[in-house]
Amino acid sequence: MVESNPVVAAEYKVVVIGEYSTGKTSIINRFVENDFSFQTMTTIGVDYRSKVVTIDGVRLKLKVWDTAGQEQFRTITRMHFRGAQGIILVYDITSKKSFENLRYWVEKIQDEHLKGESMVLFGNKCDLDTDREVAVSLAEKFARELGIKQFQTSAKDDINISKAFTYLTQKIKDYHGPHVYLEHVAPKAPSFYESSPTLKLGDTPNSSSNLSRKQACACKV
Ligand code: GDP
Ligand code: MG
Repeated sequence: MVESNPVVAAEYKVVVIGEYSTGKTSIINRFVENDFSFQTMTTIGVDYRSKVVTIDGVRLKLKVWDTAGQEQFRTITRMHFRGAQGIILVYDITSKKSFENLRYWVEKIQDEHLKGESMVLFGNKCDLDTDREVAVSLAEKFARELGIKQFQTSAKDDINISKAFTYLTQKIKDYHGPHVYLEHVAPKAPSFYESSPTLKLGDTPNSSSNLSRKQACACKV
């Protein structure tokens, strides 16, 4: 069951990852706004969108992180994955290459040494079955290898999107319990003295933490 009540018991960070044009933004649009367009655009300045999901009577807010095209140039940064409790791997069922390249993204995620993240595999654009290049059995085999579940999804026809998000939320809740707040898992900023060689007397604590954040963001993987 999905609803938009703002009162929540916990917040989880979910990252959607995969090749360019597999439908990541469309999947998020479908999940959050129940909307679809063939003209999806990368929304500059918006990192994530939120939606509240109710599991076992507990309201849980998912903050679903998109990419703004960085995946095209392999410039996803460490910050993108940091503190994630959920990861959605997306390939396009009409593109074998998008499926094969998932190994790259899985390695990238493994490099992050996340703790107990729940993962799920989306074979998106399943409405285009006549153009299918990736057999469901191949996706099932890959998912088994990773010890995760796969869903054949369509953001366009709204197939399995809500079901897969609900499944993932349940997995995260089962692992972390309903008490994870993003504030508690946010990366700790470096201390004022370590991180502020350019700060001048009179800089406010706020400007200090902004600087730390900017420095952390610049750290490419
Ligand atoms: P992203 O680069 O991974 O974020 O992919 P987009 O969400 O921008 O989608 C790329 C293109 O595929 C757009 O033209 C979408 O409208 C289209 N698309 C996304 N999901 C589906 C789907 O489930 N079915 C079909 N037929 N097209 C889709
Ligand atoms: Mg996109």
